[in-house]
Amino acid sequence: MIVMKFGGSSVESAAAVQRVAAIVAARVERHPIVIVSAMGKTTNKLLAMAQSASAGRRDDALRQWEELREFHLAEARALAGDELDAAVEEHFNELSELVKGLAVLGELTPRSIDAISSYGERLSSVIVTAAFRRAGMAATHIDARQVIRTDRRHTQAAPVYEATYQRLRDIVAPAAAKAVVVMAGFIGSTDQDVTSTLGRGGSDFTASIVGAGAGAEEIQIWTDVDGMLTADPTILPGAHRVRAISFAEAAELAYFGAKVLHPSTVLPAVEKNIPVLILNSRRPEAPGTRIVAEAVPCRNAVKSIACKRRIAAVNIASTRMLMAHGFLKRIFEVFDRFETPVDIVATSEVSVSLTIDNTARLEAILAELGQFAEVGVEESQAIVCLVGENIRHTPGIAARVFHALDGINIRMISQGASRLNLSVVVAEADLKPAVERLHAELFREIDPAVFE
Ligand code: ADP
Ligand code: ASP
Ligand code: MG
Repeated sequence: MIVMKFGGSSVESAAAVQRVAAIVAARVERHPIVIVSAMGKTTNKLLAMAQSASAGRRDDALRQWEELREFHLAEARALAGDELDAAVEEHFNELSELVKGLAVLGELTPRSIDAISSYGERLSSVIVTAAFRRAGMAATHIDARQVIRTDRRHTQAAPVYEATYQRLRDIVAPAAAKAVVVMAGFIGSTDQDVTSTLGRGGSDFTASIVGAGAGAEEIQIWTDVDGMLTADPTILPGAHRVRAISFAEAAELAYFGAKVLHPSTVLPAVEKNIPVLILNSRRPEAPGTRIVAEAVPCRNAVKSIACKRRIAAVNIASTRMLMAHGFLKRIFEVFDRFETPVDIVATSEVSVSLTIDNTARLEAILAELGQFAEVGVEESQAIVCLVGENIRHTPGIAARVFHALDGINIRMISQGASRLNLSVVVAEADLKPAVERLHAELFREIDPAVFE
């Protein structure tokens, strides 16, 4: 049994879904469980529609609704004639009730965001199932909300593993033995059967949960690039493909911004030691990137450079002369209370600097910190994170980094305790040159066994 996850761009149109059908058909003997994202940018569009409705722009919202409806009807017809008309219309009728309700209420709660954003995957999974049948495969649709149990933290719910794994063993694995199973990524439901989501990009996470729970031999993440690349291709086109990478490295890269993998994806796979492959649905014959348990021997110090934009750096100085004991504890308690993760920390005798990427509750955090410290914020910062198992055994790596970044103002630097990563914080305006220079320095020569 294998899990095959297809992201938004891999199912963005009828033509893309047909490519997916061919890829899956070529692997039916491996008993695929197929996890699909919403088609193209549907999730963004659903969220924009929800914003319009709750802000009182009802007509805009209904226009956005109509556009999504026409798109889904047209692609579904191109794949399956009028077979899906009724099912698609039913989804959109429910959605229009929700949109009108939001317009009346004028507020958008995390729970209603999940209700609305779930429609992308609910539609795509039904459409893909029909397309697979048209392509001659035996295909079964299973509602992900009846399988993936989550806590109630809407918009970023965490799976309840025991209940979920039991359903995967009892329902999904036996179904996959008989036919290709198709399930929505991203969505689940709470103990009260309320629809929830695993957070943006969460379909990768669904794939990994399903693989671990159903006992898959491999988890394939099919996307729109050739695999994990040595740099974010939107910042540096023409980076190298990484042939193989360890779970630890992949987790670090995902956490520090390599969008190709959702940061939680690795955990369930690691626990069950299931290899994860990143593959390109536009070039199915390409070998992709293999993520494996053991470290991959490599002559380069670094495997890839990840980056996170829109970071805020918070500088906190003790209002007493010297750093009082308990100062750090008080600081972190504040971030903890406001459920705001801290990425990078640097301390000096009298001050602490740290970075956060979720600034939703920054104002409240600053007010609390202001009661016992002097606080400043610099927004529009970026983290550049170098990841590689070899960082820990490569002397002089920091010197090479500083040399490459000569002339660029480095705001913070940190080497994680795992010594798997080395991160620097720079102004967002310096991000592109920083990545270009680091990439040129660190990948001037590449180990052909690891990179292409
Ligand atoms: P999907 O819809 O298939 O889940 P995503 O857009 O979430 O796809 O992730 C794929 C994208 O991740 C790529 O198109 C690429 O722009 C981006 N990306 C960022 N960093 C990397 C990296 N190091 N390697 C590969 N892709 C990356
Ligand atoms: N459709 C969801 C999103 O856009 C989940 C995913 O694609 O992984 O965030
Ligand atoms: Mg994604």
